[in-house]
Amino acid sequence: MRGLVDYHVHTFRCGHAGGASRDFVRRAVDQGLVEIAFTDHIPLYFLPEVDRDPKLAMREDQFAGYLEEVAALREEFTGVIEVRLGLEADYAEGRERELERWLSRADWDVVLGSVHWVAGDWIDDPGRSPARFAAEGVEVLYDEYYRLLEKAARTGFFDVLTHFDLPKKHGHRPAAPRVDAEGRALEAARAAGCALEISSAGLRKAVAEAYPEPRLLSRAVAMGIPVTFSSDAHAPAEVGWGYERTLALARACGVREFVTFQLRRKTARPLPA
Ligand SMILES: [Zn+2]
Ligand SMILES: [Zn+2]
Repeated sequence: MRGLVDYHVHTFRCGHAGGASRDFVRRAVDQGLVEIAFTDHIPLYFLPEVDRDPKLAMREDQFAGYLEEVAALREEFTGVIEVRLGLEADYAEGRERELERWLSRADWDVVLGSVHWVAGDWIDDPGRSPARFAAEGVEVLYDEYYRLLEKAARTGFFDVLTHFDLPKKHGHRPAAPRVDAEGRALEAARAAGCALEISSAGLRKAVAEAYPEPRLLSRAVAMGIPVTFSSDAHAPAEVGWGYERTLALARACGVREFVTFQLRRKTARPLPA
């Protein structure tokens, strides 16, 4: 999609993505994107070392190589496409100091704030989350997720909140929207100057719907919360994937511009015509 960006892309280091990082950039160029931000998963700093599954996030000893590879790609593609250095950083309640230390280790262009770890386990694990929703209750898990997302936004550590309504990933939905809990998370994002991503990844999941859903995106737009575009690509072919649909969603929800980041400074750009 000409003129847009992809602000959420993983490399092989996260253990569940494949392909050469250069091919992600090539794909972005082929799609007519103007920027691509690599945003690999932060090492799982908040879990005991034995539980840091290398299939979920990069290992600590891969961190330096990640920074070097993105810097080399930025150099290689100068004048062709902007390659940004980012990180998808898990928020973990009570571990803010450690997170802050990780974030101080590089000059990021953009830091994505994600909540995947909710009430002592992953909220989006395809193997375990159906049993969790059945046992713990859909409403309870949604409310807890939004409570953590609100706290994440309030740290001020993040430029963009990812997959805002992630608990829906495998199709679990509360009987009625959790309007109050969502509203508190949105208000925290607004107050902190955080953007939301419009992510096509949900279209590839069981829920078959982008993040955030139209009702939530409209609500965010009405509050003046900025947005950016992303695919959460885990393979080169997923870069910019589904953008016809997410651009149409954005327009339908009243989005007029999107934001990009360089060294964490935000710039607004008009939606492509
Ligand atoms: Zn994520
Ligand atoms: Zn991701």
